[in-house]
Amino acid sequence: MSEPSIFTRIMNGEIPADKVYEDDDCICIKDIAPKAPVHLLLIPRKPIPRLVDATAEDQALLGKLMVKAGEIAREHNVGDAFRLVINNGEEVGQTVFHLHLHILGGKLFTEAELGL
Ligand code: 5GP
Repeated sequence: MSEPSIFTRIMNGEIPADKVYEDDDCICIKDIAPKAPVHLLLIPRKPIPRLVDATAEDQALLGKLMVKAGEIAREHNVGDAFRLVINNGEEVGQTVFHLHLHILGGKLFTEAELGL
């Protein structure tokens, strides 16, 4: 068994985080090093390491995360302009190997500025 991810440890209450939403399937926390005025991380409780590790079994969960991301963006007043980012793999900047969606808003993003 691999070590629990930092996000699992946050979900278990071992590490504090600024939580903005939680239910049986996912939690949403403020990113500790925000890259935009609104920078939230939406994280499934299931510790899927990368998006590419998700299977057909995870389809409903992934769909729920997309809908939830929109709801949370609206609640944080960025529903009309936000960016959703999933880093898949170390080479593109993934640092926590527990699937998470970055919800970014409250600033202008250029087309070229896709990275996090
Ligand atoms: P990744 O680079 O894997 O796509 O994103 C990981 C994100 O998790 C980064 O934006 C980083 O700032 C955030 N992060 C890492 N450790 C913690 C933590 O302990 N608490 C919170 N709230 N965010 C974290």
